[in-house]
Amino acid sequence: MLEIKQITKRFGAFTAVDELSFEVPEGQIFGLLGANGAGKTTTFRMLLGLLKPTEGSITWKGQPIPLSKIGYLPEERGLYPKIRVDEQLIFLAELRDMKRKDAKQSLLDWLNYFQIPQYEKMRVEQLSKGNQQKIQLISAVLHKPDLLILDEPFSGLDPVNVEQLKTAVRKLTAEGTTIVFSSHRMDHVEELCEHVAILDHGKPVVAGYLPDIKAGYGKTRVLLTTDAPPLLWDALPGILQVESDGTGHSLQVESKEAADSLLRHLITEGFRVERFVWDQLSLQDIFIEEVGKRYEP
Ligand code: ATP
Repeated sequence: MLEIKQITKRFGAFTAVDELSFEVPEGQIFGLLGANGAGKTTTFRMLLGLLKPTEGSITWKGQPIPLSKIGYLPEERGLYPKIRVDEQLIFLAELRDMKRKDAKQSLLDWLNYFQIPQYEKMRVEQLSKGNQQKIQLISAVLHKPDLLILDEPFSGLDPVNVEQLKTAVRKLTAEGTTIVFSSHRMDHVEELCEHVAILDHGKPVVAGYLPDIKAGYGKTRVLLTTDAPPLLWDALPGILQVESDGTGHSLQVESKEAADSLLRHLITEGFRVERFVWDQLSLQDIFIEEVGKRYEP
């Protein structure tokens, strides 16, 4: 497994990552979240050995991580626009100790997987952004790394391409690849990751198994469809936030007791309640709660 122990990274007097620890068991996806500038990319650079932690240690199965075992999809995409897909990807795989013949076969397998074998000999600049992103992902996994680091892998993609890349990520974990992944899209993280850490100014403010994190919050959500006027909840205690659409209301409530008293109130007052469903806080709620309260633009 990947073990990050108490890593800190200082640039002069500035601390970009502050005593961060987490573990990722083999074959799992870990979500590293945080506002802009929270320290995610700096953490990734330390995982890759591009930056040395000021303090702390990073190990893979108890040892330093050899570069040939890591794949990296950087946030700033790094393919050479003028060079052919096959030439640059096979070259990069060879740099990571893969034999040319195996790299070529792995490239063909992945191009066929994404149903884009026709791009093998094209220059990167000739491809659409979505296909460039697929090629970039292929370049990160061609050498069959044990540990894959994905920095914002779905940014700038249309919904169809997002789904294709998510499916590829799931395929990689099913085959045993361990993934550390960052995204500003909480719904993607929630869908893919069981374990997460939220960084704030380099410090982990929430970390662990996502269902436990959610269960640890007293607050909850209620999905409500009723003929009661929205003015009603403005007057009730413990209702923190309301979002409404054509199908009803989603209320963030302070506690289960506050939700119980809302339901009692609706019934006593004779309103019709067509739907009253408990829902956990979303990762988006938790992120806003934990990072939003300290946010400095
Ligand atoms: P984003 O979501 O915007 O990509 P991030 O969480 O990846 O943000 P980092 O890029 O890790 O954030 O940056 C964390 C902080 O460290 C920022 O304040 C950044 O300015 C600072 N930083 C990063 N690299 C250096 C460096 N080489 N020298 C000085 N400061 C740096």
